[in-house]
Amino acid sequence: MREVTVGDKNFELFIDADTLAERVRVLGQQINSDFADKKPLFLVLLKGAYVFASDLIKHFEHECTISFFRLSSYRGMESSGELMLLDAFGTEIQDRHVIVVEDIVDTGNTLSAFLPALTSVGPASVQVVSLLSKPEVLQGKIHIDYLGFEIPPAFVVGYGLDYNEAGRNFPAIYQLKK
Ligand code: 5GP
Repeated sequence: MREVTVGDKNFELFIDADTLAERVRVLGQQINSDFADKKPLFLVLLKGAYVFASDLIKHFEHECTISFFRLSSYRGMESSGELMLLDAFGTEIQDRHVIVVEDIVDTGNTLSAFLPALTSVGPASVQVVSLLSKPEVLQGKIHIDYLGFEIPPAFVVGYGLDYNEAGRNFPAIYQLKK
């Protein structure tokens, strides 16, 4: 599909499914060789990153575990709130090599809040993989270890990303039409 409608908005094709698959394959293979003997824990930030994470980890050929986090109310939360969230999911983080899987880094506020909370529970290492990043709107410094694509600051949907909870199902990424 060249164009899709989600709710009251029209979107046009921005990154097609084949291009996504090829880039995800390259990222997956890099992680596969970098973490071959580390038994990493993939921490997937819900909901947006679930499609990307699902494709990404299929390229990992060694032992690993996967867990999911929801950070919808991260803003303004104290780090103790974040820690409660980590515990609530029952995931043992201490001494694990953690790979945080994010759909898109926009302002960077989500990861700025999440990463210190994660680090405080004693992982062996923390790396970030994000499918997309909008460097023009990034505030502060977020280091993305594995990045799919840098994109301009327009709103995108598809491949797990939503507009008011819809549009996650599209196999490609679509950008809001001007
Ligand atoms: P940040 O905290 O970096 O500003 O934003 C990160 C989160 O905002 C992402 O995980 C995603 O849920 C949401 N987000 C940011 N930009 C977009 C976008 O263009 N499209 C969609 N669907 N979500 C976005």
